[in-house]
Parts: sequence; structure tokens; C-alpha cells
Amino acid sequence: MTEKTVPFTKEQLTAIINKFPTPFHIYDERAIRENAGKLKKAFEWVPGFKEFFAVKATPNPYILKILREEGFGADCSSYAELLLAEKSSIIGEEIMFSSNDTPADEYAKAKELGAIINLDDISHIPFLEKHVGLPELVCFRYNPGPLKAGNAIIGHPEEAKYGFTREQLFDGYKLLRDKGVRRFGLHTMVASNELDPNYFVDTVIMLYDLILELSGALDINFEFINMGGGIGIPYRPDQDAVDLDVVSRGIRKAYDEKIRPSGIHPVKLFMENGRMITGPYGYLVSRVLHKKNTYKQYVGLDACMANLMRPALYGAYHHITVPGKEKMDRNCVYDVTGSLCENNDKFAIDRNLPGIEVGDIVVIHDAGAHGYSMGFNYNGKLRSAELLLQSDGSVRQIRRAETVDDYFATLDFPD
Ligand SMILES: *Cc1c(COP(=O)(O)O)cnc(C)c1O
Repeated sequence: MTEKTVPFTKEQLTAIINKFPTPFHIYDERAIRENAGKLKKAFEWVPGFKEFFAVKATPNPYILKILREEGFGADCSSYAELLLAEKSSIIGEEIMFSSNDTPADEYAKAKELGAIINLDDISHIPFLEKHVGLPELVCFRYNPGPLKAGNAIIGHPEEAKYGFTREQLFDGYKLLRDKGVRRFGLHTMVASNELDPNYFVDTVIMLYDLILELSGALDINFEFINMGGGIGIPYRPDQDAVDLDVVSRGIRKAYDEKIRPSGIHPVKLFMENGRMITGPYGYLVSRVLHKKNTYKQYVGLDACMANLMRPALYGAYHHITVPGKEKMDRNCVYDVTGSLCENNDKFAIDRNLPGIEVGDIVVIHDAGAHGYSMGFNYNGKLRSAELLLQSDGSVRQIRRAETVDDYFATLDFPD
């Protein structure tokens, strides 16, 4: 069970809304820092543990700066994400560049920044060499195919577009070794929003076994494994957060059994989580514009799936709190909608909520990752503002809302 609370009272939120109109995303700095501390503590036994925050989850430099202060790096997969890392003073091997179908200029920027380049395909070795030159440290993304089960968001690994096959790993590392590359890493990412701690232990065991085999067969050294992101969060109140101590203990046991006695110790452990770092600590705040009673009861918000598309895209559950009505019975059933001309623009379907009135504030939980960042302009909808509830209780706008001028800015149509 996870208690779904919000870090502000109705009065505090009303004061924020008086300054920054709804809809907006608001992130809780103190909770983000506390959670970052917990992750580091759970893995403090690991030689060279590092979390590279997946920038795509919350691509805002104010958030990246907070995470850098907590000792995290950045996991980037595009040119703009590399620039965001650079602007947040995350450079060099603090950046993991885990891209796919990558343009040459993005590899060039990654190399210029000194990022760890994580190749998605064996054909990218000559591509990288031709356009950019080989860096001294190279990582490959492994796709275990039928050897490992995936989960709903990424699907079956053998049907996923990512990564090298097992045979390609041997060929690829050998090729790089023969070309004089000396520093290596191995990466995988086969699940997203996974809540079973043992899934991650099994993933790491798979990678440990692989580097033992690869280093034996090719006489190369692995500096690190990167177990990817994908640690899930309890979107539903009846779910529990992943117990990081269980993950850590399982990995430690495998490390002590396999790696420590093997002669390849020390091997660093990297992660690149997005969701579990910021997801639970961001909220989409919206107001009720309309109530509608037809074949069903509808509550229409001033936010829409352009602000948070996970419910429409995946049928994902996002908990909803109506500040000031937390203690009331949830004895009404509503579809909570946005205003897009798309019938799947619904934040919740048949959701039990307290009786709602026009003008009520509605807080949608767990919008801190893959929320704002998945936004779009379909139907002429404008992206909302992002606010930071700072550790001292004050609120800072860290990205303004778009205006129609932004919407028209890319249009060359003559007046
Ligand atoms: C999306 C992604 C992540 C982060 O995933 P989360 O589910 O947010 O932890 C990490 N690495 C890669 C390569 C990704 O594509």
C-alpha cells in the first residue's frame, strides 16, 4: 500500500494558483532529494555506483541541477538532451549517451562532451568511426531477445528495436579491441515501470555472467555494467514501491559470488532511471471547468492529454486528489477528461471521487516523470508551466507556459 498525499494544503495551493494559473506541473524538491539519498544509500557498498538520470523523464535543467548536486549524471539520447546536460554542468563521463537510430551530429556532440557512448547496434561501430572517430570508452546495449522476458511498456525483447544480439556483442567488442579501444561497458534495458525487485537482480546477474564470458573470450576489461532504468513506481495506492534494499542485497550477493573472486573486480554498477527518480514527486495541477451529465458523468479539466498522456497512451492509472476533499467519501463515479477532440483524452475512467464542483482544484499524482516531457501541441494545445516547490517552501517557476506566439513562432506564413 502507498499513501497518496500531496505536499501542500488547499490554502497553499490556492496561493500558488493565484500567482501561476492552472494547469501546471509542480515538482517537490525536498522529496526528490530525499529519494535520491535513499537510492545512493542502498547502493553505497558498490564500487563506483552511479545513477545517470534519464533526461527524457523530466528534461528541465533546474531538475538536472538538483540531481547533479545529489551526485547523479545524465542519460541522454538526443542532441537537445545533451545540451540540457551541458547547460546543467553535467559533462564528460557524467553523461551516458544511450541513443538509437542516431544521427552523426549527435554522436559528434556526445564525443565533444566526453560522454560515455552506448552503441545500439553493431553497424554503428563503422558509422561512429567514419563520422566522429572512436572514443576511448565504448559501451554496447544488449538485447537478450528470447533469453529474457520483458514487460508491458517495452514488450518482448525479441520484438524490441533496441540493442545487439548476444553474438553481435562478441563480434563488436572484438572489433573494437582490435582497433585499439581499451575501455568497455555493457548495458541493457529490457523493462520499464517494473515493480518486481528480483527482475533487476536477474538482469544484473545476466550482465555479470556476460562480462565474465566476454572478458574471458576476448581478454578485455569491463569497467562497468549499466543495468538501465525501468524501476517502477506505485501509481496505484494498492501497489508498493520497489524495495531498493532487496535489489541491492541480491546484486551484492551476485557480485560477491561471481565478480569479486573472478579477477575482473572491481566492476562499477550504473543505472539510468528516470521514473523512480522524479515520477512520484511531480503533480499536474488543474481546475474543473465543466461538469457534464449524459450517458456518464464527466468532469472536464483545464488540462488535457497534452499535459500528461500516459493515461491515454497506456491506459495508465494516475491517482487523483481533490484538495480540501481528502476526507470526503469517494462515492461519485466520474470520467475525468481534457478538452482534446480525441475520445481517449481522459485522465481517469469510472473513477471513484468525492462529489466534484466546477472550480475545484484537481491534483493528478505521479506526473513528475514522462509527464510534461511527453507533451505536444495537437489541437493547438499549449504546453503548461513547470514549477518547483523548493526545499524552503517557496515556489519558483522553472519553465513558463507556452503562449500562442510560441505556437506561431515556427510558421513562415506571410501576414
Ligand atoms: C526511457 C529510458 C530510461 C528511463 O526509463 P525509466 O522507466 O524512466 O526509468 C533509461 N534508459 C533508456 C535507454 C531509456 O530509453
